[in-house]
Amino acid sequence: MSLRYKVGDLEIVCISDGTLRSSLDYVIGLDRDIARRISDAPDDDVLTIPVNNFVFEREGARLLIDGGSGTKMQATLGRLPAGLSAAGYPPETITHVVLTHLHPDHADGLVDDEMNAVFPNATLLVHEAEFAFWMGEPRDGENDHVKRRRARNQADVKPYRDRIRLMRDGESFLGCSPFLAPGHTPGHTCWRIETGGPDLIAWGDVVHFATIQFPLPETAVKYDLDPDLARDTRLRLLDLIAREGLVVAGVHVSAPGIGTVVREGPGYRFVPAQNSSN
Ligand SMILES: [Zn+2]
Repeated sequence: MSLRYKVGDLEIVCISDGTLRSSLDYVIGLDRDIARRISDAPDDDVLTIPVNNFVFEREGARLLIDGGSGTKMQATLGRLPAGLSAAGYPPETITHVVLTHLHPDHADGLVDDEMNAVFPNATLLVHEAEFAFWMGEPRDGENDHVKRRRARNQADVKPYRDRIRLMRDGESFLGCSPFLAPGHTPGHTCWRIETGGPDLIAWGDVVHFATIQFPLPETAVKYDLDPDLARDTRLRLLDLIAREGLVVAGVHVSAPGIGTVVREGPGYRFVPAQNSSN
């Protein structure tokens, strides 16, 4: 499924990579009954979370936000390459993959089952802090999950090694500028994209459980490497986005993930954008 949206002068196409099953066991600091009620959880407490990718074109370049999950993570994921082709953007025509962070549902889809590049003509744009963390040596006291993830990330980017553009805060490429939004990972990145109208913020995983973390944004998740820092980042960004009327492109926000954010009660509400398909 793909849907087209207009933000300012920018046309952005949302392409689903599928859905991710994610248990309420991963919610931190919220009473389980409240979590169940506001997320309308099924009996097994496992929520179905969208994984949204986004494509847009600018000055002859064709940019994809995040690289998808690949085929190994969950059977309901890995739809991105077929979705891109169906929407008229075959993977080999993507010129840049703009990465928010290197977690499996954002980076494992960079390679196929033989660990070859799924986007053979693309340059990866990644924040230098995120790249440095995962490409570096294991750190003292690091848990096995992070060690395994580091090894897999190094394999994910290997076929792109001559085509990696490291970016730092405030630098701009075709009107896309990264800024650190740390906590979920050390170099988790939001990309601020100029549109001619309100800026678009490709915010990666600032919100993972949308039905819970918009109304109760202080709720953290175990996927965050530093949950306290991720919470501070989420609160700061939701305030900024609501105050400035920015538009969000959210990977795990109610599919297809484009919309604005308004204050409501103790938290926020996501307001989906009107799509301009057909
Ligand atoms: Zn994610």
